[in-house]
Amino acid sequence: MNNDELYIKRCIELAQKALGKTYPNPLVGSVIVHNGEIIGEGYHHKAGENHAEINAINSVKDKSLIPESTIYVSLEPCAHYGKTPPCALKIKELGFKKVVIGAMDSHDKVNGKGKKIIQDAGIEAISGILEKECIELNKRFFTYHEKKRPYIILKWAESGDGFLDKDFKPTAISNTLVNQFVHQLRADEHAILVGTQTALTDNPSLTVRNIEGINPVRVLIDFELKVPEDFKIYNHQARTLVLNAIKDTTEDHIQFIKIKKENFLSDLMEVLYKEQIQSIIIEGGRFTLQQFINTGLWDEAIIIKNENLKLENGTKAPEFSHIACKTENYRDNTISFFKSK
Ligand SMILES: [Zn+2]
Repeated sequence: MNNDELYIKRCIELAQKALGKTYPNPLVGSVIVHNGEIIGEGYHHKAGENHAEINAINSVKDKSLIPESTIYVSLEPCAHYGKTPPCALKIKELGFKKVVIGAMDSHDKVNGKGKKIIQDAGIEAISGILEKECIELNKRFFTYHEKKRPYIILKWAESGDGFLDKDFKPTAISNTLVNQFVHQLRADEHAILVGTQTALTDNPSLTVRNIEGINPVRVLIDFELKVPEDFKIYNHQARTLVLNAIKDTTEDHIQFIKIKKENFLSDLMEVLYKEQIQSIIIEGGRFTLQQFINTGLWDEAIIIKNENLKLENGTKAPEFSHIACKTENYRDNTISFFKSK
């Protein structure tokens, strides 16, 4: 790894501190280097607050060093007036010596404009340093803008003999370590989806518990509105989108959105795009998961398996024939990670 890569790697580390907290904005980290020494660091904490570059600039004690310094940033500096003025202009105004960019921002509002402002000001700018890692860092943001849908993560837990429940009634499958992993996943992702059957049989609240984090937006697919409103998914702990075939109304934190039953996946993607949902965990149940699998509409799958648990009868786990790219052991449970091609 050369020096430029090392500093961009540091930008990625900084950016990751805000995972799950910046929606709809991307994760961005920035480092300012003078004569081989880091003199400033920053990252974007949440939407509406300073961008990474500004936090890094503000952290520099001796601002007179800036014209002799290089600013590293994991994503192309912005060029548009949003809640804050454009970072590319700030970089130009302060007259940095050089700008090193991880990945370019494909978002319409930036898309090369940030780098151009910097270069037009006579500042040397290079991009594409640890590009793959910088794109991976913002896989949610890039998928959302490029594919006009959220980044989709399928997730379920199954017994050693491949069942999701015991005699069609909910049963605990994963251990406490895995449960902690699951709550971290909820805190990291933007939304979480269940179908009617899962909401009825498990009555889940789908909130983040036992760890610190923001509750994901809950998405319930319930065409006939069979799930009673005193069920946990309707409680006040998080915003809930109820996609159904009956009504289109908003009541406080609950938004009913009418969609068509036929080809509902494309309607669902359209709604999630409109609601600016950048990533979603598909939590189940089997019927819902299988529809995503069969249409190839997924980016990652996470399968939790309790090898020693035999349930013998119940709902079969979804049919899924892919090769895991990574498997981790959590005591007697394993978590396998899959990536869509
Ligand atoms: Zn910016």
